[in-house]
Amino acid sequence: MMGQQSGIQEQLFFCFSLENHVPKDHLLRGIHRLLDLGDFRQQLAGFYSPIGRPSIDPELMIRMLILGYCFGIRSERRLCEEVHLNLAYRWFCRLDLDDPVPDHSTFSKNRHGRFRESQAFRLLFETVLQRCMAEGLVKGEGFATDASIIKADAQRQRRVEDGETVDWGDSEQASRPVREYLAALEEINDPKEPTRTLSLTDPAATWTAAPGGPAFFAYCTNYLIDLEAGIILDVEASKVNKAAEVDATRTMIDRVEEKFDLKPERLVGDTNYGSAAMLGWLVDEKGIEPHVPVFDKSERTDGTFGRSDFTFDADNNRYICPAGKFLKTSWRTKKKDPLRYRASQYDCLACPLKEQCCPNTLNRKIVRSPFESARDVARAITKTEAYKQSRKERKKVEMLFAHLKRILRLGKLRLRGFSGALDEFLLAATCPKSKANGEKVDNE
Ligand code: SF4
Repeated sequence: MMGQQSGIQEQLFFCFSLENHVPKDHLLRGIHRLLDLGDFRQQLAGFYSPIGRPSIDPELMIRMLILGYCFGIRSERRLCEEVHLNLAYRWFCRLDLDDPVPDHSTFSKNRHGRFRESQAFRLLFETVLQRCMAEGLVKGEGFATDASIIKADAQRQRRVEDGETVDWGDSEQASRPVREYLAALEEINDPKEPTRTLSLTDPAATWTAAPGGPAFFAYCTNYLIDLEAGIILDVEASKVNKAAEVDATRTMIDRVEEKFDLKPERLVGDTNYGSAAMLGWLVDEKGIEPHVPVFDKSERTDGTFGRSDFTFDADNNRYICPAGKFLKTSWRTKKKDPLRYRASQYDCLACPLKEQCCPNTLNRKIVRSPFESARDVARAITKTEAYKQSRKERKKVEMLFAHLKRILRLGKLRLRGFSGALDEFLLAATCPKSKANGEKVDNE
């Protein structure tokens, strides 16, 4: 028989508990069980006045932000609406049915004020990481690093090209990202005009050309992950260029070692991290195996001898060529980086292999970076089985970026400036860890 609702809601009083309406296996229950924000409140205490009207609980705002980034709700206005209407979200935020939800403007006030000054998002990120470590999700044997480009919230049209002068006007009246940018310039005390395309909305963003599309303004999010369970150990925001990405990786490796006493035996990365200086830093300074392809232009494509055809004799600081002659460097050479090794003209002109070696010059020359021994270590690693395994494991960091863009919907930033980008990257990186923890608890 077809039923029909009476349309009359006669009952005046209900006995209702949010606790009973959130399923036992809901992801938010797993996250809640492992989310301890006790330290967080203490850290923020100094940034609140001891007198006056009580503010909105910072823990509530952080819970709402975690929720938003876990479920891809990045608009603060929509997040407030969702928390207002969704029972599970209310339960996670420790709100009762008739408790008011904070206004969306409260978020931006706190984000750009107390939360940023107190480094609240990094503290939250590290709190969740420590929990992952306590749960045995971090092994510390192998790390992987990579960077991904995220569009900035800056229109392409509002820009000035290289060499054009920019009048920023009264810095007091400028927008927050412009003020931050000018303060950073002031700090490095660099009076010269920037020689790059600048956004007038978000000058710290990098103008970058993506393959197959028009150029746009963007930042890079850099991840350092542990390869055991793909847990993100550190996050850094950087400009979009190789040098900045390498610097970000160094910063992250040092920070993780300093804060958590974690130093990997191997670091896995792509060719961007295979520069001579980076390999030298990894091998000589840090003692970390670089499972990274060497950035190498020494091999030739015209059929003549490449550098691998020459043997380096470290004891005598010279190269031995395929004809058995020596290439030496002069102690008088002023430029030591890279060092230049030359064969004798006398040997080369009389050599039967000259056409295969240096057909267009009188003698053969080879350059050697001061970090060449580290590059040799990296080259030797690329021939091992462990390296093949590392290449497969590197996909874990790529998957995290795919997750960041598709599931967490961080294809474009909402906040501007370097600090805004870092805030968003930290929150977005906290959520996969929260989920990993939550899922682990659920599975148990
Ligand atoms: S050309 Fe010179 S460097 Fe090249 S193989 Fe002959 S002797 Fe050696």
